[in-house]
Amino acid sequence: MKVPITGKECPYFYGDYHRGRHHEECRLIVDSNPPWEIKHCKTCPVPDIVKANTCPHMILSGEIKSGFLGIGQKVKISAYCTKSHQVVEDPYVGCSECHPILNQFTELPE
Ligand code: SF4
Repeated sequence: MKVPITGKECPYFYGDYHRGRHHEECRLIVDSNPPWEIKHCKTCPVPDIVKANTCPHMILSGEIKSGFLGIGQKVKISAYCTKSHQVVEDPYVGCSECHPILNQFTELPE
């Protein structure tokens, strides 16, 4: 669903505006403290991550992290691959288990 304040598609955003309702939720960040608010979508990397990497084995999780004195809250995303059973360091790229050919372009020969 498209996030209204960013205009980006996010598979975890849900908004119900039918018949005067105004219910919005993030289905990725559900039990976070501080709690999720739609303002967090402005800096959330998830729409760009899912656009860059459609791997069905990668699971995202997210939480809201507060900065110093609670200022500057940001969405922190972590990723895990259920196929290679490892933390995905760069969710934009993936763990490279399924696409090892990418390493041939990124690693220089010795
Ligand atoms: S916080 Fe991120 S994952 Fe959650 S609805 Fe907004 S853009 Fe999507």
